Amino acid sequence: MQILILNCGSSSAKFAVMDPASGVELIAGLAQRLGSPQASLDWKWQGQKHTRALPGADHQPALRAVVALLHEVGLAAGINGVGHRVLHGGARFSDPALVTPAVIAGIEACIPLGPLHNPPNLLGIRIAQELFPGLPQVAVFDTAFHATMPPCAYLYAVPMEWAEQHQARRYGFHGTSHRFVAADALTRLGLTDQPSGIITVHLGNGCSCAAVRDGRSVDTTMGLTPLEGVVMGTRSGSVDPALIGYMAKRLELPADKIIDLLNKQSGLQGLSGLSNDMRTLIEHAGQGHARARLAIEVFCYVLAKTIAGLVVPLGRLDAVVFTGGIGENSVPVRAKVVELLGFLGLSLDVNLNAGHGRTAGGRITTGSGSCALVVPTNEELMIARDTAALVA
Ligand code: ADP
Repeated sequence: MQILILNCGSSSAKFAVMDPASGVELIAGLAQRLGSPQASLDWKWQGQKHTRALPGADHQPALRAVVALLHEVGLAAGINGVGHRVLHGGARFSDPALVTPAVIAGIEACIPLGPLHNPPNLLGIRIAQELFPGLPQVAVFDTAFHATMPPCAYLYAVPMEWAEQHQARRYGFHGTSHRFVAADALTRLGLTDQPSGIITVHLGNGCSCAAVRDGRSVDTTMGLTPLEGVVMGTRSGSVDPALIGYMAKRLELPADKIIDLLNKQSGLQGLSGLSNDMRTLIEHAGQGHARARLAIEVFCYVLAKTIAGLVVPLGRLDAVVFTGGIGENSVPVRAKVVELLGFLGLSLDVNLNAGHGRTAGGRITTGSGSCALVVPTNEELMIARDTAALVA
């Protein structure tokens, strides 16, 4: 079986064709800068990178170009289903869903919760339905894995009507990654059918943690939107909500603009004044850049404090599992976070950490108690598997 995976954003469309059984990625690419004269289609096929200009193309012609490309390389005819990444499924979707008119209406109803992402996600579904009229389409929601959180984890302590009448509650995101990594980690630990408590730590440009008990999410750090939680590349993570009103007055800007600054000019970028990119910050910190060093220190401190808090819903700790670009690659970030969590019984193995745990099934700590693991995420493969399961 072969699955086309699509992730349509506001100005980009990521695609891949995968075999869900073997996990082999046959082709992968990105149509980007859509709607601009610089729009392009970039892809990797048989180890070679290619690019094609699509001047002025928006989503419709860009996805047509993807389909033409799939025909050119001989993959189009073998595709059995299309899996779509959808950001917000609200409280409606706790599992991947075969796309029907009712599912489309459900995704539309979640637009107020995901106003930037759900509209392009829906557009991708509609265009794919046109371009592949005979193929089943599946929506895989970023929020769905966290649908198992209990009320004490998802409720904000605000007037109850806000949740009951306005759906204002914690949903959590990165669910596809947390689910993939949690399942992989439990297999590695031999805990698949045992009671277990692990904390998955997804550190990419966006960052979030999930407390996973017996394979199910019981708490997570992102909230109503992906702004809540730990420090991220350009997002602040959690702040005192009164900061918004305070800074709106000080800067004479509307509250929306302050929230925009918390999303786009804060986090590692805001603290360092240099970059949102952890690799760049580590390089400059090594050369004595004081604010780069401080940004990394705040990032690791907030992360460790948050991970420790997530032990509460688990009542035990089998493993802290690092993933995402930073989690999979940054030796010093993992070292600092594990050091700060030493009181939980974690003890770093410097050599295993330097090798990203690859020689020890992901393990980067010593001893037989709680451990830390590095487990590469693969959201595309998870979407391909979900799609294959529903198509079958
Ligand atoms: P996205 O959330 O966009 O998928 P990624 O998961 O690719 O992002 O993560 C991007 C982050 O990973 C960036 O901050 C980048 O600097 C960081 N990163 C990638 N490789 C390394 C590395 N070798 N050392 C430190 N950070 C790294």
